[in-house]
Formats: sequence, structure tokens, C-alpha cells
Amino acid sequence: MLVIRSDVTPTYEMERRRLAELEAAKLEADRANEAKSAFLSGVSHDIRSPLNGIIGFTDLALGEEDESRRREYLEKVRSSGDLLLDLVNDTLELSRIESGKMTLDPEIVNIRELAMSVVTALRPSAEMKSLDFEAPPEAFPDTTAWADRLKLQKVFLNLLSNAIKYTRDGGHVQASIEVIEPPGDGCNYRITVEDTGIGIAPEFIDEIFEPFSQEQRKESASVMGTGLGLSIVRRIVDLMEGTITVRSEVGVGSRFTVDLPLKRVGDVQAEIVEARRQTISLSGKTVLLCEDNYLNAEIAEFMLKEKGMRVDCASNGKEGLEMFADSEPGTYDAILMDVRMPIMDGREATRAIRKLDRPDAESIPIIALSADAFEEDIRDNLEAGMNLHVTKPIRSDQLFEALGGLLC
Ligand code: ADP
Repeated sequence: MLVIRSDVTPTYEMERRRLAELEAAKLEADRANEAKSAFLSGVSHDIRSPLNGIIGFTDLALGEEDESRRREYLEKVRSSGDLLLDLVNDTLELSRIESGKMTLDPEIVNIRELAMSVVTALRPSAEMKSLDFEAPPEAFPDTTAWADRLKLQKVFLNLLSNAIKYTRDGGHVQASIEVIEPPGDGCNYRITVEDTGIGIAPEFIDEIFEPFSQEQRKESASVMGTGLGLSIVRRIVDLMEGTITVRSEVGVGSRFTVDLPLKRVGDVQAEIVEARRQTISLSGKTVLLCEDNYLNAEIAEFMLKEKGMRVDCASNGKEGLEMFADSEPGTYDAILMDVRMPIMDGREATRAIRKLDRPDAESIPIIALSADAFEEDIRDNLEAGMNLHVTKPIRSDQLFEALGGLLC
């Protein structure tokens, strides 16, 4: 008789875990489906009202003889059309965010310039309502940050245009951005938009960031909106890993506060240089080294060869120019050019190289090597056609940073 005994517990456990995972995935898919259906019904509902406006007022305009009344109807057609356009744009934007396709595209941004572009765009609508609109340039820091310009603009624009929209004629709207020092919870910038408008009811305040939520009150009945602005703001703020809070009282006003962690440009530059230094391999690249001082040439050649680079040496500018001119285009990846040299100095040689009639004459990176590091020396080198300046005595990290930056 053969008895086989086997422990099936791990197999059973694995099966159980797989089933639980499947169950969770199904639940997630159901939830996403429900959200999509709710979203779609929101879109169709909200598209219908401006569309009804367009059709209805066009009919009225067509049947109207009186010129001024017809104009009035056409203006209503126009504003319904504008609203429909906003709705389509916002819906597209929101669905892009929801599908996870939206990513941040950061660049160097001056915070005051960005804020003032929004303020300038919205000032006419504030003036039309005779609002006391307080958003002078000094309310925004003249600093640079590493941020997604369009998305940051959108956040500020949506908050400020709401404040103007939901404040009665003659009310007060105030906007500012401040640097938080020291940063709280990692956030170093705070946007504040405050108004003395109609306010938001406590029972509605949790819903304002949901798509298509619009509070139905008689005070806001005349205000046109898509109900998507704050949803977009919320999602952008989430993407930027910031926070948004709102304090509001009906009939008194609202204050929206957005805290964001925006990187400082200096830190980012250091990060980029470091990343480049780590990823760029200089090995196998060929450099033409123009240096008259034998000892300096030997040191530089040693450093470059250590990195696996090939080096050809010229002992003055004229020799360097001739070696470059005689080489096949593409032979050299960069030229290291001493500035002070006998027979032909580095600047003259650079000018002559740039004028040569060959495809790489203009594009070959030329790095000045010089002990003269005053601003005007560097400027003269750049004007002669060199791309960068590395100060002598050469430090290998600076030399490779310069080469890495130009050869990537
Ligand atoms: P909308 O296009 O309707 O303005 P939002 O998503 O920007 O859509 O805002 C959602 C709702 O939140 C608005 O319909 C309004 O009821 C309320 N709301 C937003 N900002 C303010 C504000 N500053 N004052 C009063 N209510 C506001």
C-alpha cells in the first residue's frame, strides 16, 4: 500500500489570495464604470442647457423684426455658445486628468509674472461689476519656481474667476501668493483667494470639488458656470502634491487656500547637472585639445584619457585650426581651447573654425580653458564662438560637467 501525504495549504492560500484580488479588481472596475456613467450623464445634462439656449434664442432672433431685440437674442446665443465651449474644454481636460494621462510639465516660472497675467485677464470682468479688486503686483513674490506654468495658471485663474463670479456688484475680491518660510508639510507656496461674495452653504461645501456640482441658490441663478472648474483645480493640486482648503459663510464670503510644494530652480538645476553627469558616458568620445603649455596639456590629456576619451593635441591655435580643418567631419566631438597661446590665440582660432565651410564648423562644442575668469573675459570668449568657459587650473568635475552638458 502506498500512502502519499501532501500539504496543500500553500496552494489553497494562493488560490484564496488570487480570488480576493479578482474580487477587488472587479469592484474597482464597477466603481470606475459607475463614475463614468455619472460623469456622462452630467455632461449630457449640462450640454443640453446651453444647447437649448442656442437653439431657442436663434429661433427667437430669426422671428424678430426689431433690430435691438434681435441683437439681444444673438448676444444670448453667443454667451450660451461660450459656455458650451468652456464645458467641452473643461470636460476634455478633466477626462485627460482622470485617465491618468495628465502629467506635469515643469519649467522655470516667475510667480509674479504668472499671477499678473491672470489678474490682467480678469480685471475687466471685475471692473464691470465695480468690485474692489485687490491684486497688486506686490501681492505676488518676484521669485522663480520649477512648476507647470499652464496648470498653475489654471488653478489661480479658476479660483479668481469664481471669486469674481460669485461676488455681488461692489464687493471685495483679494488674491495673493506668499512664500511659506519655513515650508509647512513640504509646501512652500500659498495661494489665497478671498471674496465677500454669496458664500457656500455648509451642506454643499464638501461637494464643490465634484464634477458638475453647482449650488442651486437664487443668488447664483444668474451666474453661468460648468461646475467643473473646482474639480479641475482639485485634481491639478493633487497632481502637484499640494492641498486645497476652503472656508466659507453664506452671505459673508469665501476664502480658498492652496498650498503647493514647488521646487526651487537652483535645486533643480543641480539635480539636472547631477543626473546628466551620471548618465552621460564620455567614454569613446574624441577631443581636440589646443594647449601650448606642455605640463597643462599633459594634465588635461591624463584626465580625459582616464574617462576613456581619445585626445589629439595641438600646441597652438593655428595647429588646432589646421588639424580640425584636415579631419573628416564628425571626427571630433569637442574642442578644448586654451585662450592665450602663441602664433594664434584661442579666440582667433575659434572664429576661424566657426567660419570653415564644413557641416560641423558651427556645431562643434568649443570649451574655453582660461585662468582669466572676469566677466568680460568670459563674454569675449563666448562672443568669439566658444560655448562654455572652464577656469584654470582645471578641475576634473568642472571639465566633465561642461563636456557632459554639451555632448548630451
Ligand atoms: P462653476 O463653473 O459652476 O463655477 P466650479 O467647479 O468652479 O463650477 O464651482 C462649483 C460650485 O462651487 C459653483 O457652482 C458654486 O456654487 C460654488 N463656488 C465656487 N467658488 C465659489 C465662490 N468663490 N463663492 C461662492 N460659491 C462658489
